[in-house]
This record gives sequence, C-alpha cells and structure tokens, in this order.
Amino acid sequence: MTTNVFAQIIAGKIAVDKVFENERILAFKDIHPVAPVHILIIPKKEIADLQSVQVEDLPLISEIVQVAQLLAKTHHLTEGYRLLTNNGSLAGQTVFHLHFHLIGGRKLETLG
Ligand code: AMP
Repeated sequence: MTTNVFAQIIAGKIAVDKVFENERILAFKDIHPVAPVHILIIPKKEIADLQSVQVEDLPLISEIVQVAQLLAKTHHLTEGYRLLTNNGSLAGQTVFHLHFHLIGGRKLETLG
C-alpha cells in the first residue's frame, strides 16, 4: 500500500475540507489554492496518474467529469473554469495519485 498524501486523505488519516464524496470519488479544497475556487477531485481507487488509466477505469473518469460539472455549478463558476491534471514530474505532478484540479473564480492565464 502506498503512503502518499492522497492515500492518507482517502483513509481519513489527514483531514481535508471535503466538498464531495461518494463510494468512488472524493473532492476537497486544495491546501494551496491558486484561485478563489481550487478543488481537487480524486478517485478513491489507487491510480498513479492519467497515463496509468485503464479502459476499465473510463467510467470512473466519466464520473469525475460529472462531479466537476456539479461542483462548477455549486461554486457558481458560470463564466468559466479549468479542469486539469498534471501527468508526470515534467508536468509538475507532485502527488502520484490521480487528481484533477478544478480551478476558477478569477480570470485565468492562457496556457502557452
Ligand atoms: P500536483 O502538483 O498536480 O500533483 O497537485 C498536487 C496538489 O495537492 C497541490 O496543488 C497541493 O497544494 C495539493 N495538496 C497537497 N497536500 C494536500 C493536502 N493535505 N490537502 C489539500 N491539498 C493538498
């Protein structure tokens, strides 16, 4: 079993500010927000990164998208938001448990 910080959060060993939870997915506020709304949406299943997603995981990814849509609504991100995942260290991934950042509430810089 891995001991990365998100595994500990899923196990309830580290407290977070939860905004959504069901049997498969957990969403909570990022501890270092880069915008007024910065939520991490993670599968409870241990998946290291996007590149490790298998065909059988696609329903889970689809459900994560639905959770992102729901949270965008409940957090009033009507004018726009960003949903992103960093895959690998060159992309800036620091926690090797798949997670999607839902970011909004201010004008976001264009990428590139
Ligand atoms: P990434 O750099 O894409 O791997 O994103 C990891 C994110 O996890 C960062 O934005 C961190 O601020 C966030 N993070 C790390 N530890 C915690 C924690 N205990 N509670 C909430 N967010 C965390």
